Amino acid sequence: MVCKCKRCGKEINHDGEYCVDCPCKGMQEIFQKYPDVKQAFKESIDEMKKPENMKKMVDDTVRFMTTVQGLQERARKEK
Ligand SMILES: [Zn+2]
Repeated sequence: MVCKCKRCGKEINHDGEYCVDCPCKGMQEIFQKYPDVKQAFKESIDEMKKPENMKKMVDDTVRFMTTVQGLQERARKEK
């Protein structure tokens, strides 16, 4: 069975909802805006590189990104 990333639609070859590129790309954007977050996630990203942790980390990271982006959306609307 071929899985596709829920975010970008790219085929993924691991067991998960999202490809690895989406969280990596999204996190880079977040790190640029919030340098403090980068330090907090440094460890997580190292963990994420282990295949056994990939599904959980990718899913968690996308969830986190979605939360941050949701907050940004809301902040924009409140201005
Ligand atoms: Zn993707």
